[in-house]
Amino acid sequence: MAVRRRLSLEMTSTSVMRAWILLTALLIATAALADPVRVFVGVPPLQTFVEGVGGRHVEVYSLVQPGQSPHAYEPTPRQVAALTSADLYVGIGLPFEAGQLPRIRAADPGLRVLDAREGIDLRRLEVHDHGETGEGGAHDHGHPADPEAAARAEGFEMDPHVWTSPPLGKHIARAIRDALAEIDPANAAAYEANYDRFSAGLDRLDREIRAALDPLTRRRFMVYHPAWGYFADTYGLVQIPIEKAGKEPGPRSLAALVDQARREGVKVIFVQPQLSSKAAEQVAAAIGGRVVVIDPLAADYEASLRRAAREIAEAADQ
Ligand code: ZN
Repeated sequence: MAVRRRLSLEMTSTSVMRAWILLTALLIATAALADPVRVFVGVPPLQTFVEGVGGRHVEVYSLVQPGQSPHAYEPTPRQVAALTSADLYVGIGLPFEAGQLPRIRAADPGLRVLDAREGIDLRRLEVHDHGETGEGGAHDHGHPADPEAAARAEGFEMDPHVWTSPPLGKHIARAIRDALAEIDPANAAAYEANYDRFSAGLDRLDREIRAALDPLTRRRFMVYHPAWGYFADTYGLVQIPIEKAGKEPGPRSLAALVDQARREGVKVIFVQPQLSSKAAEQVAAAIGGRVVVIDPLAADYEASLRRAAREIAEAADQ
C-alpha cells in the first residue's frame, strides 16, 4: 500500500511538472500572440499592405476612415492619443503627416516612422490654380520638410497616391517588411514569407492591368481628383484632372475642360466617393458622357485597381 502510494505521488508530481511546463509554454506563446506590433497608417489601402505583410503579427489602424478625403483631413485628439501607443507609423506624404508627425514623435520618441516612399521617384501633384481669379490659392496643409517645402513654394505638392501603381506597391510592401522585421525580429521569417506572397499578388495584378490597358489607342482619361498619376505613369496613360488647387474649377477652366474632353473624345469622367463634384457632372453633361466612381482609397486595393483598369479600357472603347 505504502509503495503504491509513494509511486502514485511520484507520478502525480511528474504530471504536475509536465502540466506546469506546458502551461508556461502556453503562457509564453499567448503573450507573444497577444502582443502584436501596433501599426498606424494614413489611408485604408496602406492598411491592406501592412496586413498583407504583417499577417497575424500586426494590428493596423487607418487614421483616414472610408469616405473621408485625406487631403483636408486632420487626426482627432483621440487618434493622436492612440498614436502614442503605436510601434510604427507608415507615412506616404499625406498633407497632415508633415504637420502632425513631428509633434507626435516629440510626445512619443519610441514611435518609429517609416516613409514608405523612400527611394521612389515622386511625381508632383499640381495644386496651383493657373491664375484664374476667384478660385483661391494652394491650401495650407502644414509645414513639410524639404524637398516638399520647395515644391510647395513653387505651387506644387508631391503626389502622395503612390500605391495606385502595383510596381511601386511592391516597393512600399518591401519597406514595410523591413521595418516590421526590425521592430519584431522574432517574426522576421513570417514577414519575409508574407511579403513574397503579397508581392506575387501585385505582380499578377500588374500583368492583368497591362493586358487590359496595353491595347488601348486612346490613352487619356479624365478624373476629378488627380489620384491616378502613378497608375497612369506605370501604364503609359495620362490623367486629365478637373480639380484645380484642391477645389472645383472656375467657369473659365470648366469651359476649357469641356473643349478638351471633346477634342480627346472623352466619354467618361472618373470621380471618387470621398469627393463630390458638380464640375465633373457638368463636364459629363456637356459632352454627353457619364460619371463613373472609382476609389483610389479603397481597402480592397486589388479590386479597386482592377476596376479602374476595366473602366478606363471600357471608356477608351466608346
Ligand atoms: Zn488624393
